[in-house]
Parts: sequence; structure tokens; C-alpha cells
Amino acid sequence: MVGAERRGATGNGQITTEDPATGTTLTSIAAGGKLDVDEAVASAQSTFGEWRAMSAAARGHVLLDIATMLDAHAEELATLETLDNGKPFTESLYVDVALAAQVWRYYGGWTTKLTGQTVPVSPPVGEALVYTRREPLGVVGAIVPWNFPLLIASWKVAPALAAGNTVVLKPSEFTSLSALRMVELALEAGLPPGAMNLVTGYGPEAGQALIDHPSVAKISFTGSTDTGRRIVTASAPHLKKLTLELGGKSANIVFPDADLAAAAQGALTGIFMNQGQVCCAGSRLFVHRDVHDELVQELASAAKAIQLGHGLADDTEMGPLISPKQLERVQGYVESGLREGATLVCGGDRPNGVLANGNFLSPTVFTQVRDDMSIAAEEIFGPVLSVLSFDDENEAVRRANASAYGLAAGVWTNDVRRAHRVAAELDAGTVWVNMYNMIDPAAPFGGFKASGYGRDLGEEALLGYTQTKSVWLNLD
Ligand code: NAD
Repeated sequence: MVGAERRGATGNGQITTEDPATGTTLTSIAAGGKLDVDEAVASAQSTFGEWRAMSAAARGHVLLDIATMLDAHAEELATLETLDNGKPFTESLYVDVALAAQVWRYYGGWTTKLTGQTVPVSPPVGEALVYTRREPLGVVGAIVPWNFPLLIASWKVAPALAAGNTVVLKPSEFTSLSALRMVELALEAGLPPGAMNLVTGYGPEAGQALIDHPSVAKISFTGSTDTGRRIVTASAPHLKKLTLELGGKSANIVFPDADLAAAAQGALTGIFMNQGQVCCAGSRLFVHRDVHDELVQELASAAKAIQLGHGLADDTEMGPLISPKQLERVQGYVESGLREGATLVCGGDRPNGVLANGNFLSPTVFTQVRDDMSIAAEEIFGPVLSVLSFDDENEAVRRANASAYGLAAGVWTNDVRRAHRVAAELDAGTVWVNMYNMIDPAAPFGGFKASGYGRDLGEEALLGYTQTKSVWLNLD
């Protein structure tokens, strides 16, 4: 989508997009490359003046109207998301689409609240008035993954537009359909053509072209840590600003004084939501030795009862992984867990029958996991839970923090002092206490350490799409 025009890739390349639950072809999308990115960036540049010059209130209204439009098309968008990504329809509807609309609404409210400051300077002679302006950066490139396609695109595009930037969005080659529909709906809602452009295509081609483009002021990226590292290097020649939301290996810690039923439920949501393909998945479950066996028993019986199926089927609780390659990768981790001596409590296998053609893997739980095993140290990005036992609080915090990543963590306890103490000690961008996987447009989200830098959501994300100008006025 360049401006308001839907066109094929200049090179005529196509990407086939599949239903991950059946392996059948859904449709094909353009495999965009450098020339397409050049056109999309030119379109964003030419609309930048118009968009930034609109009154803040008018810009805000457009964003609010986009939110209303997403809500009005929620079932259609959720169906697209489920077909393309595989997640259960109710998750698409109540998490992805509902939260995406909330994000647009939240940033629609921010346009009129983005203020500068007056600064009390003390010049050596005379007097001066100094004030700051929060100005947009220009053209922002947003590169997003396949696990929450519409939602993460909204996390980036909505604040960038709210701050007066224009955008070129590069969705994942696996899941471009909902984002394409979002651009059409945004245009219908009154977004000026060219404010949000979209180039479908592969990362090393379309994504790389966006990073290399000299007129793109910032790249906001969500994806794997390896790709993030490549983006840092590739963007250095132009000193592009970066927000990087990368991988995770989050610790979810259950203390013996916790409400165990709630902790079990939180652990299940923490690892099996979206088939475990969640950056902040609570994939390392640290359980105090006193409650370990009881919790594991509860987890295993609940995991075994999870209904796998096509995301559009009414009784489906968990869908397939995104691709055969991702399935193979996750199965490789199951094998490595067994090889390294962990105990497989449930799952690890694939369903037969009608589901055999999809990328399904049963919900998997390992116990007797050591910190140095691959399943405890590396991001699996699938429905595989590693349970580790601990004996005291200091040990739990130390081992939780002994990870290259620092995206999120969970703490389950009824001791309010422990809750705050541990939350302060954990190296993570988000800590949930007695809950897990909660996201709100107002709460900043992002990582410590190899999980990235910069933040999505909240005021902090908005400020990340601005640059500060100090204006000096001689009062003498
Ligand atoms: P990925 O890094 O393979 O791809 C992400 C996006 O980058 C895609 O659009 C892809 O086409 C593009 N890309 C790939 N190579 C590129 C290159 N060389 N240059 C430019 N663009 C390139 O990640 P993925 O497999 O789509 O997503 C899974 C990863 O995303 C996991 O590691 C997960 O933890 C992470 N993730 C992080 C967050 C967060 O907020 N921290 C949220 C969701 C997912």
C-alpha cells in the first residue's frame, strides 16, 4: 500500500501465505523490495508536511476514528488474524483486535497532550525565554513479527502518527493480512493517504531496504534478538534512532505462600497463550520446593486437557505454531530437553488425524530442569514450559536474573513486602505480581539487557517518536 494505492511488487515477486492449522494456501502477497520501499518512503515523505501541520486535535480525531473502525470490523480482523497466524479466534478478537483498537484510542487522546516545557535559564547577561518543542522525527519505519501482527503494528504506528510522523510498515512475511486491512480501514477513517504506507516482503529484502533508506529517521522493530543486532549494525551509517523489542526467557516465580490455584492458572496462561509464541512468555517457571510437586501435578493435568484445533473451531483452546520450520525448531528443543536429562511430564508429541497437516505440538511441560540446559537458557518461542525448583528467595532472584534476556517476570506470593522487594530486584522491563501477560496501552513495555531498548506503549513510546528542540528568545 503506497498512499491509497494497492499495488504489486515492482519485481512481481509473490509470497504464498498459508493457514498454519491446515497447511493450505490462503492467498499470496507481494514480495516487495528496494524499489517498493523507495516509493513507500517517498509517499510518507510527501505526506509528512501535511500530517504534522494538521492541528493536534484533528490528528487525534483521525486516530480515534481508526480505533472505532477497528472495533467495527473486529470480527473480520480477528478472522484474518486466526487464519493467518493460527491463534484461537477468541484470542484474536479479545486480545489482538480489542487491544489494537485501545492502543489507537489511547494515542488519539495523546495528540493534544504532547507538550514542551519552559526552561528557567540563567544567561550571563540579559534575559532569555527558553522553551522546548516536541517535534516529530519524519518518516518512521516499523518492522514487526508474526506473533501479534495487528497488535504490534498498532503499538508502533499509532504513537508514531500521534506525534506527527508518517510511517512505512513492514509486517512479517508470514502474517501481513490484518495489517493490510488495517491500512485500508485507516484510510476509510480519514487518515491522509501516505501517512501510513505498507510494504509486504521478506526481512532481508523489504526490511533491509527500509533500514538502509537514508530518509527513514527511525526504525521501530519487534522481533528476534539476532535480527535486532543486525539492525543495530545496518542502521549505524545513518545513525538512525532505534526502538528494539527483542526476545525473552522470562522467569515466573512461585513462592510457597502463593495462592497455588491462581499461580497454576497464571503459569498456564504465561506459557500456552498464543502457543507459547509470546516474547514475554513465562517459559522458566521457578517453583519453591515445598509446593513443587503439587503445582506440577495441577499444571500437567490442566495442560493435558488443553484442546488443540483450528483457531476458527468453537472449542479450540490452542492453535498451531506459525510454520513447519518453527515446529521443527520447537521439537528440536523438546529433544534437547530429553537429551540433557530433563523429565518430560506431558506433551512433546503431535496430534494425529485431521490436525496432522497443521503445525501442532501438544502443550509440553518439563521438570528437573537445570539452569544450564538449552530449554532453560534459550528462547524456544513455543508451548514448552521448563519447571525449575528453588529453596529460598535470594536464590530464586539470582537464578531468574542469570539470563541474557530481561523482558518480563512474574511473582506469585501473598506477602506484600516480598512482592515489592522481588519486583524491585528482578532485571526485567515488566514484573507482574499475582498475574501474568497483562498489557495496557498506558503501561510501557520493553526489555532490559538483550531484550532490547526503548519502549512500546505509554507516554514513553510516544516520546520516542519525537525529538526535542530548545528555542531561545532574547528578552532584552
Ligand atoms: P524475526 O526477527 O525473524 O522477524 C521480525 C521482523 O523482522 C519480520 O518482519 C521480518 O521480516 C523482519 N526481518 C527479518 N530479518 C530482517 C533483516 N535482516 N532486516 C530487516 N528486517 C528483517 O522475528 P519473528 O520470528 O518474526 O518473531 C519472533 C521473535 O520476536 C521472537 O524472538 C520474539 O521474542 C520477538 N518478539 C519480541 C517482542 C517484544 O515486545 N519484545 C514481541 C513479540 C515478538
